[in-house]
Amino acid sequence: MEGQWGSSIHEQHRQIQEAMKTNPTQGIAKIKEYLGKQNNTPLNIAITGETGSGKSTFINAFRGINNSDEGAAPTGVVETTTEVEPYPHPNLPNVTLWDLPGVGTPNFPADEYLKKVGFERFDFFIIIAACRFKENDVKLALEIKRMGRKFYFLCSKIDIDMYNEERSQRNFDKQKTLKAIRDNCIKGLLDQGIEAPQVFLVSSFELHLFDFHLLEETLERELPAHKRNAFVYALPNISKEIIKKKKEAYQGQIKYHAAVSSVGAAVPIPGLSVAVDVALVKKVVEDYVTGFGLDERSLRRLADSSGVPYSELVSVMTSQLGATTITLELIQRLLSQLAKEVALMVAEEVSRFFIVIGIPVAMCLSGYATYRVLHFLLDQVADDAQRVFEKAVK
Ligand code: GDP
Repeated sequence: MEGQWGSSIHEQHRQIQEAMKTNPTQGIAKIKEYLGKQNNTPLNIAITGETGSGKSTFINAFRGINNSDEGAAPTGVVETTTEVEPYPHPNLPNVTLWDLPGVGTPNFPADEYLKKVGFERFDFFIIIAACRFKENDVKLALEIKRMGRKFYFLCSKIDIDMYNEERSQRNFDKQKTLKAIRDNCIKGLLDQGIEAPQVFLVSSFELHLFDFHLLEETLERELPAHKRNAFVYALPNISKEIIKKKKEAYQGQIKYHAAVSSVGAAVPIPGLSVAVDVALVKKVVEDYVTGFGLDERSLRRLADSSGVPYSELVSVMTSQLGATTITLELIQRLLSQLAKEVALMVAEEVSRFFIVIGIPVAMCLSGYATYRVLHFLLDQVADDAQRVFEKAVK
């Protein structure tokens, strides 16, 4: 399936290039369709495990939501998930995390579980336990496999285990201890009949520590190609690597935005020799800002969950794009300030751009300006995201 999806994306790129050469209007329509699909691909992540295992806390942490925030999955050991509950990503309506009841609860007996939760809609399953996976978890994993879906084991609350180990061991070694816990957990699952179990040790209170990055890398690698961007955009900004990946995913689309902008309503910008489709730039930059969690609501949520005051998070941003309403005027003003940057474009670069996208030369200048502008603004937003992340974890 992976190969199929991969080649179909490759094929779409080829078709776009071909159409741009022979019939640019059709080419632009194809690009719009491609971008629409890329940015609205549904991604449904199932989180299952016994009550109290930490499902809700993980769902909230992944979405960058504090347990006490509005829209948070209810947490606390007495809460019981009795229904399949969807929790949409706050900034990406196409991405949903689903809180599933534990296997074997009265309404969800083990033998009917997958049918009752509607397993077909889920892209993959994360099975959570506080490092002791029980018979029901194993049964479920085997059943998920039989249904042709993937599953991953997540040991939650690893911070508690580490704290306890640190207190009880004289020569505490963090890495050795983590490995011992992981190996022990894998052995338990192997003994219960799971082949090559994938186990990740996570603290939902500190996603940037422990194995969350390994879980993220594994999922990204194992997801079909057409789902990867949706997943990367939905990730919490909890490491330099994730911020870099998001930036690369957005960068990969810039040439297409640029091509679309070259047929859009271009507006003259003071100081710039070419007109630019400001409305398009505004829309794309808004996506960058929410994608990197730099809009006001996301930053307030981050302030809540990190305990770092909102004003301090805002103070480290320099792009002028975060924590504000992005207006056409703001974009126009920024473009004017960027005039020098964009004016540096040389004929050689413009013609290279022409070859990459297959766009006719006459449409190139304005499109190329958009291309440069978007790269520049994306760099700025991603740099802000990195500074905000560093501030939040300090
Ligand atoms: P659910 O019933 O599976 O949804 O479990 P909850 O998310 O409600 O978590 C149960 C309890 O474990 C709550 O008191 C959480 O605060 C706590 N908890 C969940 N995840 C973690 C974690 O990673 N570390 C620590 N220390 N506590 C956690």
